[in-house]
Amino acid sequence: MNKNNQAIKNIVILGGGTAGWMTAAALGRFLNNSYQITLVESDNIGSVGVGEATIPQIQVFNKTLGIDEADFVAKTKATFKLGIEFVNWGQQGDSYIHGFGHLGQDLNAVPFHHFWWKARQLNLAKPLGEYALNCKASWQNKFMRSIDAGNSPLSDIVYAYQFDAGLYANYLKEFACKHGIKHKIAEVESTLLKPENGHIQTLTLKNGEQISADLFIDCSGMRALLIDKALKVGFENWQAWLPCDSALAVASEKLTPLPPYTRATAHSAGWQWRIPLQHRTGNGHVFSSEFMQAEQAEKILMQNLDSPAISQAKLINFTTGKRKSFWHKNCVAIGLSSGFMEPLESTSIHLIQSAIARLLAFFPDKSFNQANINEFNKQTHFEYDTIRDFIILHYKATQRTDSEFWRYCKNMPVPDSLAEKFELFNANGHVSRNKNELFSENSWVEVLFGQNITPDSYHPLVDMMSETELAKNINSIEQVVKQCVDYMPSQQEYLQHIGG
Ligand code: FAD
Repeated sequence: MNKNNQAIKNIVILGGGTAGWMTAAALGRFLNNSYQITLVESDNIGSVGVGEATIPQIQVFNKTLGIDEADFVAKTKATFKLGIEFVNWGQQGDSYIHGFGHLGQDLNAVPFHHFWWKARQLNLAKPLGEYALNCKASWQNKFMRSIDAGNSPLSDIVYAYQFDAGLYANYLKEFACKHGIKHKIAEVESTLLKPENGHIQTLTLKNGEQISADLFIDCSGMRALLIDKALKVGFENWQAWLPCDSALAVASEKLTPLPPYTRATAHSAGWQWRIPLQHRTGNGHVFSSEFMQAEQAEKILMQNLDSPAISQAKLINFTTGKRKSFWHKNCVAIGLSSGFMEPLESTSIHLIQSAIARLLAFFPDKSFNQANINEFNKQTHFEYDTIRDFIILHYKATQRTDSEFWRYCKNMPVPDSLAEKFELFNANGHVSRNKNELFSENSWVEVLFGQNITPDSYHPLVDMMSETELAKNINSIEQVVKQCVDYMPSQQEYLQHIGG
């Protein structure tokens, strides 16, 4: 029991997109019917409707909620995702996979990529992806979950999902409503602030009804009705580093065989995603309106589909950047209302998940302790900024000069934090990262080498191994990965096996 009986009682979640329903599901599950929680969404204003590729952390969210994986995969028409293939990023014609999970095997406590880089220069090694189960299995459209196989890579297969965003929202809606969340369909017209402290007091609906609460969670998407329109916290614009501001999304027929990975193909002023689901394929062309008109972007999108289109292309405009505060007074912004960094590394749903975890960790009482709010904001800024650097890396690390867009990206100044990472890696292949950063050393290494950024040197301890020994080790890692992938079924067979 709260010592001053300051416990909040009423919570309103504004918005019924992925952010709103993920928040509702988690609060319903963990607040145990002790709070009155209402989700308000308009049936007039649609959700963004994209957001179908994820990263492995989503499994933690699902497991914490107690969601059964086979049921989830079947009901959201999900496929498994082992990584992202990047095509045409370093140079046109290039392709590499940023795979989740392990890369080779560290030798004598030195990360694998240092050995690989020496071997590669001596023509003793194949491309980096040959030493990572996730990359090799992706190329062969294979998938399985981990099995108990000792220290084999098959014992630790790291994966995420690709799912239908609409079905995912419905799935979570059902879950949330079962856990006591009230669902109200109504459009919010205005917001009233308390004159004494500027907290949100009530939302006025189009029908004149007013809803009040102690805590408001803004999941209203890019409209950011509460955190921005009502509380005016301000926005930090990142377009100079992440210049894409538009996307055209279109669905096409399902693919056979079914790839267990997302693909991001660079075009002349942006890139195109391909997300294979069980029943259809999600596609979209993310581009910069400064460098390309929407008509041309649509033409490129439609010309580069791998299966016939089954919907009309839908245009979505966005601005890359983040809110200056994510939690202000009695309002917490979760989802697109908090900011957007474009979908290149499928990080937005993860940001929703981690904001929810952080809200539960610093859950307020009526005093809305400022120290809690400050820590929530500090951690969220750190997460946003470090993910931002990883995404900018893909644009900056290009050798393309075939279009104005790529010349701009190649020459643009980057944040100091990213410039330092480049400098260190260029020198000797080290990746410096704070242990709380989302993307691992392997992720950085795969993208850097994948986009032809190569270090001048490697870890000096590598030279303690003779060239014969080096060749033997590198070859044996490749063989282990090959044998594991040979053993794996196709994703299609695996989905049938689990009843997906
Ligand atoms: P929305 O989906 O926009 O939902 C907003 C909700 O607020 C709606 O229910 C709406 O009805 C409600 N609302 C708004 N105004 C009012 C009002 N006045 N009254 C009542 N209700 C209101 N993320 C990933 O993780 N992976 C991806 O692959 C990925 N791809 C993306 C591609 C693109 C082009 C874009 C733009 C985003 C992508 N994202 C991706 C991000 C992802 O789509 C979003 O993070 C996620 O869908 C959450 O959106 P949201 O719920 O915040 O907003």
